[in-house]
Amino acid sequence: MRTHQGGVRAVEVNPNHAPTAVTLEYSPMTGEARFPQAVWEQLRAMLLADLSRETKCFVLCRTLESSGRVVFLAREVVPVPDEAYAQRSASLVETRPEFIHALLVRCAREGYALLEAHTHPWTTLPRFSSVDNRSDLQKFQTTQPMSPPFRHGSLVFGCDMSFEGRFWDYTREAMATITRLQVLETPPRTLYGTDCQPPDWARTALAVYDRQVRAFGLEGQAMLSRLRVAVVGAGGLGSQIANALALLGVGHLLLIDPDRLELSNLNRVVGASYAQAVRGWRKVRALAQRLNRARPPERRTVAPLPLDVRTREALAHLLSCDLIVGAVDSAVARQYLNTVAMCALIPYLDAGVGVRSENGRLAQGGGQVQVVIPGATACLACTERGIRQSVEEQLTPHQRELSIRGGYIQGEAIPNPQVVFLNGVVGNLLVWELVKLATHCAPVQPYIYYDLLGQHAFPARAERNPNCLLCAAHPDSLLGQGLYGLMGYLTPRRAPKSKPIPTPRGG
Ligand SMILES: [Zn+2]
Ligand SMILES: [Zn+2]
Repeated sequence: MRTHQGGVRAVEVNPNHAPTAVTLEYSPMTGEARFPQAVWEQLRAMLLADLSRETKCFVLCRTLESSGRVVFLAREVVPVPDEAYAQRSASLVETRPEFIHALLVRCAREGYALLEAHTHPWTTLPRFSSVDNRSDLQKFQTTQPMSPPFRHGSLVFGCDMSFEGRFWDYTREAMATITRLQVLETPPRTLYGTDCQPPDWARTALAVYDRQVRAFGLEGQAMLSRLRVAVVGAGGLGSQIANALALLGVGHLLLIDPDRLELSNLNRVVGASYAQAVRGWRKVRALAQRLNRARPPERRTVAPLPLDVRTREALAHLLSCDLIVGAVDSAVARQYLNTVAMCALIPYLDAGVGVRSENGRLAQGGGQVQVVIPGATACLACTERGIRQSVEEQLTPHQRELSIRGGYIQGEAIPNPQVVFLNGVVGNLLVWELVKLATHCAPVQPYIYYDLLGQHAFPARAERNPNCLLCAAHPDSLLGQGLYGLMGYLTPRRAPKSKPIPTPRGG
């Protein structure tokens, strides 16, 4: 990894450019950019159309900001028409100022950040040239007065879409590195910038994960260990999932659930003790304690967050994750998580279970797992009706009748009864999909249905709705809208206490 600690970076001299002495200060901030599949394909097609000379285009983005980190959410690629190039050759590209000005006006009006992208088509190890350094610095200083909230950055791509990236840290008036790009294909891909490869997987815990490394390789294990996953819901299903993810060596696990343990949880909640249930411990606290104990000392990174998932604090934690897992029994919470995932371009894995009993006989039971890759696979809103139909087609008429009455096909878990073995099966179906997403060791299955009585798990069709308000590619959808898309869900901030009005003396 490059060190970002505000050091001065040596100027690299590209043989194709005249060297210009510009030294750049680098800020300790880092950035990341996320591309829905359609936006990435568009960008790639534009940039690689002509490899005989440099090409330029612009990406309009929303941003998610947290301390020290900015995430660019790509919304739209703007091509540069021939007449808008001021210069264009095999080693140089420049856009006319009026073209950029018009884009900046649009950014200011519509609240977008701007990433400028250009190619170095002669290389697979792209680095900003000294000419790039000089022109980026000049441009970023020019747009500094638009900040905050405006963010301005640039990406240089090689002929295979390898990249180097940076953005302007307007607080320190210095460059900040964009370390990685997330491409939301099936499965999602992470591209690391030139000199930004993650450190080698620490082999200290190799003994612990040896049998897994034998299953999906050292790189697969490394990919798991770099993940930051939020598991929402620490009940019967969520605790099974969290348990398996902790054992697998997932890097950071955030457990989100405000509920306290009760005696009636002890038949299925992993990690809870009788004493904790009697004392009413928070579910996530009991679970995190238990899961951390099973991990090597340097990997005790399971964090309990006893929060309602719809609070601002929980949202900030969700937005810091690479993957969100929903094991919640409320349709409202499930739809909320789906919306957060679409707005922030974070893959979402959802699981639900349901059992129905008639006079002590288990009449029906089952569950489903859905893998939502924003903009690539169907989201929960897309599948509300489609899945139901697809699953129903594969059940016997009697099963169908019961499942419709039970209602769980729609993903609505029934509060009672609850059995540990069903949670175990469905939870681990989800975990297996998560491992596939992270390690690419097998093809991802976007939707799986499990029928308890038939002991039968099968994939169901999960077709995207081209008009989906959440995940479709049309301009009004919430895909990649960041906090803009979540405004309606956030509780308004408490108004500051109004100051007492002083009483004038005298009179
Ligand atoms: Zn360049
Ligand atoms: Zn959708």
